[in-house]
Amino acid sequence: MSCVFCKIANGEIPSISVYEDESFKVIMDINPANLGHCLVICKEHYANIFEMPSELTAKAFAVAKKVAGAVKEATDCDGINILQNNGEIAGQTVFHFHIHILPRVEGDLVNIHFGGFNAEEDMIKQIAEDIKNKL
Ligand code: AMP
Ligand code: ZN
Repeated sequence: MSCVFCKIANGEIPSISVYEDESFKVIMDINPANLGHCLVICKEHYANIFEMPSELTAKAFAVAKKVAGAVKEATDCDGINILQNNGEIAGQTVFHFHIHILPRVEGDLVNIHFGGFNAEEDMIKQIAEDIKNKL
């Protein structure tokens, strides 16, 4: 298995860890977007959120919330983004489930931008129906 996060999870590759339990390891991002940027990594290999059992996803976000509180206190940041990318187009570069905990400070260089999509209200209502039908 050549997955970098599997190797980190089983200790084959070193990492700076801040939290660990039976299912997750939380490590400092090697290329942080801000000081305090960490990653909640699942110990088992799931490429993305869709491959994971929902109970484990729920636990992952509970760990993210707990660690985000500690990051907030440790960094005295102004806010925190909790991000989880699925698929290359969504910015995923490591195809092993992880959650970013990204502290934000006034004037930082992080750029998370939602470009406006020009949708008519009818289109929004239609896609809402399509989504409901898939649940
Ligand atoms: P994503 O783009 O959501 O897949 O995020 C992958 C993240 O993993 C990036 O922010 C990388 O900087 C980080 N990363 C990649 N390799 C390592 C590593 N060996 N240790 C810690 N973080 C890593
Ligand atoms: Zn993996």
